[in-house]
Amino acid sequence: MSDILKNTIEKKRYAVDEQGYYGQFGGAYIPEMLYPNVEELRENYLQIIETDEFQNEFRKLLKDYVGRPTPLFHAQRLSEKYNTKIYLKREDLCHTGAHKVNNTIGQIILAKKLGKNKIIAETGAGQHGVATATVCALMGLECIVYMGKVDMARQKPNVERMRILGAEVVPATCGSQTLKDATNEAMRHWINNPLDTHYIIGSVVGPHPYPDMVTRFQSVISEEIRLQLEQEEGRQLPDHVIACVGGGSNAAGAFYHFLDDEAVNLIAVEAAGKGVDSGESAATTALGKAGVLHGSKTLLMQTEDGQVIEPYSISAGLDYPGIGPMHAHLFETGRVKFENASDEEAMQAGVELSRLEGIIPAIESAHALAALDKVKFAPNDVVVVNLSGRGDKDLDTYIKWGKY
Ligand SMILES: *Cc1c(COP(=O)(O)O)cnc(C)c1O
Repeated sequence: MSDILKNTIEKKRYAVDEQGYYGQFGGAYIPEMLYPNVEELRENYLQIIETDEFQNEFRKLLKDYVGRPTPLFHAQRLSEKYNTKIYLKREDLCHTGAHKVNNTIGQIILAKKLGKNKIIAETGAGQHGVATATVCALMGLECIVYMGKVDMARQKPNVERMRILGAEVVPATCGSQTLKDATNEAMRHWINNPLDTHYIIGSVVGPHPYPDMVTRFQSVISEEIRLQLEQEEGRQLPDHVIACVGGGSNAAGAFYHFLDDEAVNLIAVEAAGKGVDSGESAATTALGKAGVLHGSKTLLMQTEDGQVIEPYSISAGLDYPGIGPMHAHLFETGRVKFENASDEEAMQAGVELSRLEGIIPAIESAHALAALDKVKFAPNDVVVVNLSGRGDKDLDTYIKWGKY
């Protein structure tokens, strides 16, 4: 790692504290029975991931298995359209088609070092489940993925992908039979199997240390952006970085090494669904209030009496009622600006990128692209859009939408 990068990490103005807080957000709000598992992780994660042995294994797999560094591509025709200089960080070219595998690689190496031989995960749309099943096959570890029964029916291809990879997919049949029910089932499993099992959470959410741990694994994205911009532009700092936010892991990774460089404008894009005020959206910062979700204090969409509101987005990966606690803090401090994009705006931006650059983006990533229309850029600005994933998995949604 270069000295410049080391320095930026050591500044740590927005970093998590010992108790897992970013400002007022974060912490570990967990049932007492889960405490030993989370505590074991908290006591060991930094020590392990900072060793040369861990870093060597992590970096080697990112290079040879995931295909990193992913390119930083100067999108010329898109740049012409918006009259500024746009680069795409090509996380869509990662093995399995999105950034999620950066995190699952990191966590499975950690699990092995902790002596765990079974992996559990929860998944909504199935992308995190596939990324988890993938690294379990790679390492020869047993894998159980909990998934809402309704989601299993909606996301059949990903269910079959996980099964081909050797994972057991267990339907969650309580409540709305979606992501939150799958999360509950996974937590229950973990409580009952604390000694041999590691729980891989798929975004920068959950009790401390998950948000910080996942952020660190994904921060390879901004580490590479700095080094690649140095080569392309002779400077490490872009003027703007734009990323979509579901739970917030690709955005956390794309922002991390720029957080203390206040000159870099950081823009997070949430899913407005059918419109922020339509009652069908996932625009957490626009609508949310502080509360506890999945083990941490954060911003979430909730009713007056604190019931979590069902989120909606055309994009399964952004269909989440909260955001990670670091993002809640970055929103509150104003360090990151939050925009949102509707289903329609995202779909149009997805087709636009396809036509201008020959890249069909994941619909999640298309939300980040839709923000190009909402932010003012100067012609000499350097803009980096984090292209979190590829659109192959979304073909049915593009077809159903049909306007191309
Ligand atoms: C899961 C997913 C997201 C949303 O998750 P974050 O944790 O917010 O990054 C975004 N893009 C793609 C392609 C995804 O698969």
